Amino acid sequence: MGVAARTARAGAKVCGKEEKVVGVQKASGSCPYCGGRVVATDMEAKWVLCFLPLCLKNKHMFACTACARRLITYPAIVQD
Ligand SMILES: [Zn+2]
Repeated sequence: MGVAARTARAGAKVCGKEEKVVGVQKASGSCPYCGGRVVATDMEAKWVLCFLPLCLKNKHMFACTACARRLITYPAIVQD
């Protein structure tokens, strides 16, 4: 279980960061470690301070479906 899954479960928390997966899409390229399929996950991150949403931003996260590695930086694997 990753941190994101634990964060999602602690939804009753009024202060802190909330992350929600809004979509998963297939990314081009393959994993540099095992050559597996890479998916791009759209995350919606929200900072909440005592019921007041402070900011909302979307981010992309890349991960390999085969070896479950997170590919943090935009990977060089998209070039062919
Ligand atoms: Zn992989």
